[in-house]
Amino acid sequence: MNNIATNYEHLAATVLKNIKKRNFTGSYAATAQEAREQMRALLQPGQTVAHGGSETLAALGICGLVEEAGCTYLDRSLAKSPQEKREYFARSVLADVYFMSSNAVTVDGELVNIDGAGNRVACLIHGPEKVVLVVGMNKVARDLDAALKRVKLEAAPPNCVRLGLTTPCSATGVCGDCHGEGCICCNTVITRHNRVPGRIHLILVGERLGY
Ligand code: SF4
Repeated sequence: MNNIATNYEHLAATVLKNIKKRNFTGSYAATAQEAREQMRALLQPGQTVAHGGSETLAALGICGLVEEAGCTYLDRSLAKSPQEKREYFARSVLADVYFMSSNAVTVDGELVNIDGAGNRVACLIHGPEKVVLVVGMNKVARDLDAALKRVKLEAAPPNCVRLGLTTPCSATGVCGDCHGEGCICCNTVITRHNRVPGRIHLILVGERLGY
């Protein structure tokens, strides 16, 4: 095992120990393939599954995974009009399982997410029966301050580029603290505790995934 992989394993063990006091469950997957297997094992045929927008989940082939498990996949890409998007969101809130990544996870176990529309963080906070966050170890930050800085430097700018938005960060790579129409930094959510036992599960993955 190389040094980075060994370090990821040690750091993940620390984070997974710290999330226990927050009433999150969690596990470590050394590889993306292992993460996929863990995600698959959390699903049961017949369940309804939705997910938030995520390059991590796209890389893991979320759609195929859900269908392989015999679940009903709520495909967000099929919602074309604003009304269809509202309906997709309403159905997502009632999903049995909601997958997402997290923009950052602190060493102490807080989940840090910044959202534009807010549907993803809304489902993290309340609604779906179970929320599974799949997070590459590249997103672990020392503390809340570092996590928020990470989002503004390493997550939001490439997401704005991906979405074709004309924000300051998509042009310069640096947050310009914008308030324009395309701003994706509308809601900052720090999840510090899970009230419902077993609802929030964190899979840390020992590879660079997403941003
Ligand atoms: S506040 Fe605006 S400029 Fe800053 S990271 Fe978010 S979208 Fe980019």
